[in-house]
Amino acid sequence: MYNSERVITDFINKSDLKKIKEFSKDKKTPFLIMDLNKIDKKYDELKKNLPFAKIYYAVKANPQDKIIKLLAKKGSCFDIATIYELDQLLRLKISPDRISFGNTIKKEKDILYAYNKGVRLFVSDSFSDLEKIARSAPGSKVFFRILCDGGSADWPLSRKFGSHPDITFKLIIESKRLGLIPYGISFHVGSQQRDIGQWDNAISQVKYLFDAAKEEGIELRMINMGGGFPSNYLMPTRSIKTYAHEITRFLKEDFGNNFPEIIIEPGRSIVADAGIIVSEVIMVSKKSMCNQYDWVFLDVGKFGGLIETIDESLKYPIFLERENKNLEKKEVILAGPTCDSADILYENFKYSFQTDIKEGDRVFIFTTGAYTQSYSSIYFNGFPPLKLYFLNEK
Ligand SMILES: *Cc1c(COP(=O)(O)O)cnc(C)c1O
Repeated sequence: MYNSERVITDFINKSDLKKIKEFSKDKKTPFLIMDLNKIDKKYDELKKNLPFAKIYYAVKANPQDKIIKLLAKKGSCFDIATIYELDQLLRLKISPDRISFGNTIKKEKDILYAYNKGVRLFVSDSFSDLEKIARSAPGSKVFFRILCDGGSADWPLSRKFGSHPDITFKLIIESKRLGLIPYGISFHVGSQQRDIGQWDNAISQVKYLFDAAKEEGIELRMINMGGGFPSNYLMPTRSIKTYAHEITRFLKEDFGNNFPEIIIEPGRSIVADAGIIVSEVIMVSKKSMCNQYDWVFLDVGKFGGLIETIDESLKYPIFLERENKNLEKKEVILAGPTCDSADILYENFKYSFQTDIKEGDRVFIFTTGAYTQSYSSIYFNGFPPLKLYFLNEK
């Protein structure tokens, strides 16, 4: 179920494709196009399928003001990683009671800064961080992130974040002693998580911690289910509807019909599908006469926004603008334009393009609305950061 079997219309309908071609034809590549209508719809789809969940958009997925403003207007709350994102949200007049400081790694002066600006909801996964919060954000609500191994996720987020339930339990007790409000448990099953069962495992651990805390007289009130909801990359996933249905069932199994407050922190699933990178083939070449694969060099690569191709983790749907599905295809190696040999996009996994692919051809790289432009480098090799255009601005 890969490139060779999927076609451009799996990722864009014919009339939108026509619009994108028209819009992009006289613009210099590479650039990203973000369709605000699609973001609007993705938000509604999540809200509709998980009506009991409060949405905290993970700002880091795509921090553009226009996107933040759109989501704020729709009632979204926000998950931030740094005080810089906090400053941005405050500048956009988003009230601090709609903001959660969701990074487990923070300086004490930044905790204080956030507290002074009115933020009262913090994540933690360690004693030293908890003590910093107690000192610099006294009386705040704290939720505790548990470890998830990120198995079956395309972009796992494992190991670095969260603690094992034995530590988490001690943190809950300690937070109360320190005068904080032990508020809930969070987890992130890994970004672009393809195995819905991972939520089941995490939710049962949450239930165990809710019960253990209760025995100590502490009533936890919130579950933060993080992100991990899927977007439409090359490898297909189940629909958001199926995810939501299953996750709701897992919650019911453990918590009955009276759910605690439920928070989700979607990033990728809100913005990824809304983005298309338009790029140009710089060159098609052969490394040796007997090598079976041509190299296709694009004008965008790992340093231009496609960093999530590390380890070939995420496989973007990439199609020629003049795609003709009736022509014969060949497998190629895809690489970016910089003088860095790490800047190879896909070498083990082979993308297929029609055999007449050539210099100057344009390609559309779909599902690039998340974790792309903000990752693009500032003038590495002299390349400017990835340009961005919006469609359907209100
Ligand atoms: C990155 C991140 C998210 C967003 O995850 P997606 O898989 O992109 O939806 C949510 N919560 C936290 C704490 C994160 O770090």
